[in-house]
Amino acid sequence: MTQNAYLLSRCNKVGEKTVLSLKKRFFDAYYTTTKEEALEKALSLIPIKDTIAWGGSMSVVEIGLLDHILKNGYSVINRDQAINPEEKIELLKKSMFCDTYLMGTNAISEDGELVNIDCIGNRTAALMFGPKSVIVIASIKKIMPTMDDAIKRARTVAAPINMHRVAGSGQRQTPCFATGFCNNCISKDSICSHIVVTRLCNPQKRIKVILTAEDIGF
Ligand code: SF4
Repeated sequence: MTQNAYLLSRCNKVGEKTVLSLKKRFFDAYYTTTKEEALEKALSLIPIKDTIAWGGSMSVVEIGLLDHILKNGYSVINRDQAINPEEKIELLKKSMFCDTYLMGTNAISEDGELVNIDCIGNRTAALMFGPKSVIVIASIKKIMPTMDDAIKRARTVAAPINMHRVAGSGQRQTPCFATGFCNNCISKDSICSHIVVTRLCNPQKRIKVILTAEDIGF
């Protein structure tokens, strides 16, 4: 076997086991090996008449899902078209009433729990309540052996990278912006206001998790 074949072999085991863990907790869950399969699965879960909204997610972008939704006549609540901060907040509020909400996740425990960190809480709010259906796209690299490991990943890997994403070309007064490392700050610029663990999906199957072997997101 090649190195990639060894990698895929391990991914398959981890992905399939985690799907069972997620289903045990009443999530709908799927494992895919490629971005294309992940996209196909996500589209199969979105009724054509649904109104769609999303949280900031590189995984949703990288499998081509956002692009497909925007180019194929779906009804959307497009937060990225807000012309000022006030309009953006209104669109984020409106997103709570969409049919399908698209997002990534910062980490997943091997036992099937999701961990997400949020700044103002729009993404974690939609995950918890509001949209009829939530589709979560995640690389299996986000699956951690324990809940402690999942929280650690979310805080020390995902959040610092996300800080650099949201800062763009601007400046943020946080340790992770200055050094790349999380220092558990309480800066006014922190993006880590809410740390949410989703340990069960209620109502059952409202949250659909699509795992992929591909190295997407962060
Ligand atoms: S340093 Fe602050 S903003 Fe950065 S990841 Fe840690 S808690 Fe979040």
